[in-house]
Amino acid sequence: MSGSAQIRVLPDHVANKIAAGEVVERPASVVKELLENALDAGAAQIDVEIAAGGRKLIRVSDNGQGMSRDDAVLSVERHATSKIATAEDIEHIATLGFRGEALAAIASVSRFRMTTCRAGEASGTELRMAAGKLLEVCEIGVPAGTRVEVRDLFYNIPARRKFLRSYPTELGHVRQTVLVQALARPGVGLTLKVDGRETCALARDDDLKTRLAEWFGPEYVKRLRPVEHTRASIRLHGFVGLPLSARSDRQEQFLFVNGRVSSAPLIHFAIQEAYRTLLPSGRHPALCLFIELDPAQVDVNVHPTKREVRFRNPADLRDALIAAIRCGLDAGSSASATVPAVAPPAPLPAAEAQLKIEDLPSGRVFRYPRLPWDPGDSRGPQGGPCEIPARPSEAEENSSSAAAPWSWCRILGQIGGLYVVLETQDGLVLMDPHAAHERVLYERMFRLLGEGAVPSQALLVPETVELMPAEASRIRENLDAFRDLGFGLAGFGGDTFVVDAVPAVLGSTSLRLLLAEAVSALQRAGLRGAKGRWREEAILRAACRAAVKARDRLSLEEIESLVADLSQTAMPYTCPHGRPTVILWSFRDLNRKFARD
Ligand code: ADP
Ligand code: MG
Repeated sequence: MSGSAQIRVLPDHVANKIAAGEVVERPASVVKELLENALDAGAAQIDVEIAAGGRKLIRVSDNGQGMSRDDAVLSVERHATSKIATAEDIEHIATLGFRGEALAAIASVSRFRMTTCRAGEASGTELRMAAGKLLEVCEIGVPAGTRVEVRDLFYNIPARRKFLRSYPTELGHVRQTVLVQALARPGVGLTLKVDGRETCALARDDDLKTRLAEWFGPEYVKRLRPVEHTRASIRLHGFVGLPLSARSDRQEQFLFVNGRVSSAPLIHFAIQEAYRTLLPSGRHPALCLFIELDPAQVDVNVHPTKREVRFRNPADLRDALIAAIRCGLDAGSSASATVPAVAPPAPLPAAEAQLKIEDLPSGRVFRYPRLPWDPGDSRGPQGGPCEIPARPSEAEENSSSAAAPWSWCRILGQIGGLYVVLETQDGLVLMDPHAAHERVLYERMFRLLGEGAVPSQALLVPETVELMPAEASRIRENLDAFRDLGFGLAGFGGDTFVVDAVPAVLGSTSLRLLLAEAVSALQRAGLRGAKGRWREEAILRAACRAAVKARDRLSLEEIESLVADLSQTAMPYTCPHGRPTVILWSFRDLNRKFARD
């Protein structure tokens, strides 16, 4: 090599291609950038059209403010933006775009056509490009707004084109992108056309709930609770999912920071923390949350796609998120607290044996949390073959607990000597009585703990329990927490303990099992860097599990009160360890399975 300079500034079209690698990964990224531009332009209606998973065509039309001819030509230059002017502006960005890279990047890897016109102007501008080269700019008569057409994405970069996935995969990403923006601005009308067919049309002026229902269906929304919470100048609003809504990925977690789709490890951590006793690890609740805070408190300029953000005061945000989510989830339970408690269902003939199908009354309907059985059911307790009872009126429905998984139900039987089968207004429910029992006990004990008085019951004969040395020392460290929970527990020399009282709610329990469970619960919770009353919570979880494990049969009466009690809990859908208590098959699901739709 010669000694002359070897460094050179890359020509624009090369730099654009490189930038395109960051901004334009696949058709969905083009859709995202174009939707953001349309929203920044104040569009009230946006129409998206794609063909062949977006490889052949992506077209986004909006009725936003449009551009003048000069602006249109500038807009496809790299670092051309109307959204910020100075370096200081980066500190408080209120628009979705600001880097001025997207159009230049997209145009450099496709055949690109844009038409645009400002409101009130007689004619607009058409601009055509290919592989980043401007081919033509001319005048054209078009409605006010902007339309961008991107054809043959990556046609000039075969290597990138090869990396695109199948049409359905790319289409899936595009749909997800459209959904996310549709949720970000529920007030904006949005349509999506795929290969010439309109696959979704979301009306203008929707609110968030309507929009969620339009996309996911009305059943979905029933599993969400509204959130509205302001704390330390951070406002959080939207919806959080009941534990029932959880899935093994985060596909249904929609997070917006100042209107921008965002994610940050901190947010995910806070969500996990808020659902700690409600979900096992690895399960993620559905949620759609808007975080509004002073733009100066957020750094969005971390990554070219602007998805990952950073916060100047992470601790404030974390606390606000946890509080908001907990509040939202608890709202259901406070609503249920205002509903008068139900009398337990009228006892049936003694059934000490394990529940058997023959013992079941036919046609008996239990309404929770209102009536033990439905007086409107003229067949009465001994009625004829089952029919699906009429749905309760809307007023009736609203009067029931917001969190209750059913407003009435009928116990149909038990299968496999374990699972209880219920019919409810929405469909079929299978309940795991052990998990349900754990949930009921846990909430009952937790409430008593909050009231500062867990009634304990003295044992007629105090019991001694001998533990392994490591277990024993953990119990010793936590004796006070056990006492707060109503246990009479004391060291008896060496690694032996004597128990002379237990919380009354628990009933008879194997103390050996309970202490062993408690040791491992304390260990696990401690490892997760627990805070607050974590020791009590861990012991509670263990105690409930042990109490339930110790019982291997439940009478029909007990099952009936369990069903009633469960419907009154704040979190009826999972046990405190995060296992599901009930599995629901809605009539809709059943109809679909029987191909009745
Ligand atoms: P950025 O959005 O980061 O500013 P873009 O490359 O996406 O960068 O767009 C460049 C500029 O083009 C924008 O700042 C905006 O002024 C203009 N523009 C892009 N799309 C539209 C649109 N749909 N309607 C009106 N103006 C637009
Ligand atoms: Mg942009």
